[in-house]
Amino acid sequence: MVEAMGEEEKFDAIVVGAGPAGVAAAITMAKAGLQVVLIEKGSRPGAKNVMGGILYKHMLEEIVGPAWASAPVERPIIEEQRWLMTPDAALRFGHRNLRNRLDPHSFSVLRARFDPWFAEQAEAAGVFLINETLVSELIVNGGGVIGVKTGREDDLLADVVVVCEGIGLGSKLLQSAGLKAPVRPDQVAMAVKEVLKLDADRIEARFNCDHGEGATVECYGDATMGMAGFMFIYTNRDTLSVGGGALLKDFVDSGRSPNQLLEHFKAHPLITPLLEGAETVEFSAKMIPEAGYRGIPKLFGDGYLVCGDAAMLSNPVHREGSNLAMTSGRLAGETVIEAKARGDFSARSLASYRRRLEKSWVLPDMRKYDRAVPLLENNPRLLSLYPNLADRAVDEFLRVDGVSKWAKQKKIFKMFRREGGVRMVVDMAKALWTLK
Ligand code: FAD
Repeated sequence: MVEAMGEEEKFDAIVVGAGPAGVAAAITMAKAGLQVVLIEKGSRPGAKNVMGGILYKHMLEEIVGPAWASAPVERPIIEEQRWLMTPDAALRFGHRNLRNRLDPHSFSVLRARFDPWFAEQAEAAGVFLINETLVSELIVNGGGVIGVKTGREDDLLADVVVVCEGIGLGSKLLQSAGLKAPVRPDQVAMAVKEVLKLDADRIEARFNCDHGEGATVECYGDATMGMAGFMFIYTNRDTLSVGGGALLKDFVDSGRSPNQLLEHFKAHPLITPLLEGAETVEFSAKMIPEAGYRGIPKLFGDGYLVCGDAAMLSNPVHREGSNLAMTSGRLAGETVIEAKARGDFSARSLASYRRRLEKSWVLPDMRKYDRAVPLLENNPRLLSLYPNLADRAVDEFLRVDGVSKWAKQKKIFKMFRREGGVRMVVDMAKALWTLK
């Protein structure tokens, strides 16, 4: 319900940011009959969004139901590859899954196409979308959030504000209201992405895709110059998304720029043939939260909830972010619906949001991978020395040069003992323990 309060209107809920989290929250609440306003600073949803990106059907279907099938996706992902790279070789692991033809669970998307469609679903559900409007401030009264300032004449008021502003510039809105600490350089990755135009036939031939089908390639080791992160190539209809990122702290410490990283990756002799003849049509850069479970800020308080990247919900090990955003948005929406029925928007009432996240897969996954990024940050050998050793070991073993396999085995063992030593055993044990 929209109440008139003097000059101002009061909504049931204001959602800040029309990314996956904000739209998911808005749709969930609007479907239950709540009066929801969704505010986006871009000229339209998707105009300012970057993501690689691979989108997951399950979470989308939970929000829009069968309408997911009309989403403007690029290609269903049939094959996923991981490459552990050295300067002139790669150990490749892949999973080509033809069952995905019948029931694909992930798709490549371009956010400039996907986000407007997703926001249209919100409008169809009754959400009032306002584009080109920056929320400049949360209005706090008596310790609780009661609305937002937008730089337009009137303030907007609501029972609850769902903050889905992402992590761009470190979530300025929450920070300036004192609701989130500034993010540290070891808590975020700086990511870059280019969209390169390439005709569909060449994409399919180079990435071994059947007509209309897609693949992902994610690269570690030399791909990121040994920094904690990964690079990617995702196949779209007639473009490639090429990019990646590394911990901001690694850029600061090494003096490298994200652009240097991207150029290094594109110049790798195993990557250049994949990109030959492709023309850059778009370049963007953005941060990705990588602080793990311990880096999650306060998720709720009197009159507000925080979702998606703004809540630092992301799983870089599995390149998941949009799904955590959609699920947290949906669960925030369900929390508000319940709070509305009780007529209570206090922190105590909204605390059930955190319980919902704990009961879902979101916080359990955040806990599982809590130490994954520090593991890479504190053990750079994992992305430099060990890929190199593995490459040389495989090279030695596969090389047919008149030396017996017994002698080769001995040589490889000696090499691991000399160059990896006990430290390698400890590092591997640590890695297994961290990802258990
Ligand atoms: P966002 O998508 O950032 O949306 C926030 C929205 O809020 C934006 O539209 C922004 O314009 C708006 N906004 C911000 N501040 C204000 C304000 N003050 N007022 C009004 N509007 C505001 N995830 C995956 O699942 N798969 C991938 O393959 C993948 N690849 C990625 C590749 C890159 C290079 C990057 C950077 C990220 C990738 N991610 C991927 C992560 C994914 O993009 C995020 O996890 C996801 O977009 C988070 O959604 P969100 O709604 O929380 O935030």
